[in-house]
Amino acid sequence: MGRSTEASAAGDRGRQTSSNGAGVVTIKTVYAFVPHTLRADPDAESAIFEAECTTFDARSQPSSEDQEPIELWALAHTGRTGHTGYRELVTRFWWATRSG
Ligand SMILES: [Zn+2]
Repeated sequence: MGRSTEASAAGDRGRQTSSNGAGVVTIKTVYAFVPHTLRADPDAESAIFEAECTTFDARSQPSSEDQEPIELWALAHTGRTGHTGYRELVTRFWWATRSG
């Protein structure tokens, strides 16, 4: 964490509507590019880990500590069902702040 990336985000700065008199309305959207810095959300947990069975609709409880609880869930699920395929889901939270 603590890594930051400079980038630009497009912001919708307003719309202008005009008519050409023939019933055709043109909408112009004006974008301005504002520099932002993207970093890990300081108010969020570092990451949330989950495992999902790829055979049927079953998912572990989320773990915000590490992968061990979801690995144990997957092994127990295999023991109960014989299912052998899993998908790991990792959720991380970002926060963009205006830097320009
Ligand atoms: Zn399963």
